[in-house]
Amino acid sequence: MIDAHVHLENGPLSKEYVYQFIRNAQVKGIDHLQILDHTHRFYEFKDMYDDICRQNPLQAQWFSQKQKNSLQDYIDLIEEIKKEDLPIKVTWGLEVCYKKEREPFLKDKLNLYPFDFLVGSVHSIFDILYDISSFSKELLWDRYDTQTIFQDYYRQLEQCIGSNLFSQIGHPDVIKLYQKQAGYDLTATYETIADLAKTHNVLMEDNTGAFYRYHHPQVGLDPKFRKILQKKHVPIVWASDAHIPEHVGQCFDKLKKVYE
Ligand SMILES: [Zn+2]
Ligand SMILES: [Zn+2]
Repeated sequence: MIDAHVHLENGPLSKEYVYQFIRNAQVKGIDHLQILDHTHRFYEFKDMYDDICRQNPLQAQWFSQKQKNSLQDYIDLIEEIKKEDLPIKVTWGLEVCYKKEREPFLKDKLNLYPFDFLVGSVHSIFDILYDISSFSKELLWDRYDTQTIFQDYYRQLEQCIGSNLFSQIGHPDVIKLYQKQAGYDLTATYETIADLAKTHNVLMEDNTGAFYRYHHPQVGLDPKFRKILQKKHVPIVWASDAHIPEHVGQCFDKLKKVYE
């Protein structure tokens, strides 16, 4: 079993910290761990976030706290760990904060590094982050109607898949996290996304993060969305979106029941 989306974000880029994730994976019966960190952790991607920072000082402040390392520190850690004889398979990538305008920057940058996989995720609507407890409500959810937010999320998700920059798409329907209703029927959107995923050969995540971190009642994908992906034979990969070692494989037992 794979956990395809695990972050080192809240800890150091150290071998000891990675081993904590590996030990937790073993306990949960996971034999392949995909470790990634957000592009916003690394100084090399700073220019990509000028839009976010300009949009509001609260976002600029958020971003400055996220910038912690040079990408070289991460590459060094990966090279060091690849020499080890690990008890499970561990592969390495990035979770890229995708936006159409960032594509030229990303094309140049991502080619420079030998990652095993790249996850593309949409994290902002009109340059406003949608999931930050200290400001997203005020800056986004109170200001725009839900339908507009959902439509922009899925429009960007389509562009993300179509960019051909990624091997995997992060939490494809996470915009539901605060349990707001889209205000329109999403069936056609799910169909379009599934067709694009198939055409562009990307894995789609069934991500439990919104379930255990935001208390959304659905474990992973919307059942309707999952069904459409399955019907069209789009490859799905399970992901915990763990931000601490203890959350590796979080709620995979519940996700398993959904597939039975
Ligand atoms: Zn994400
Ligand atoms: Zn993530």
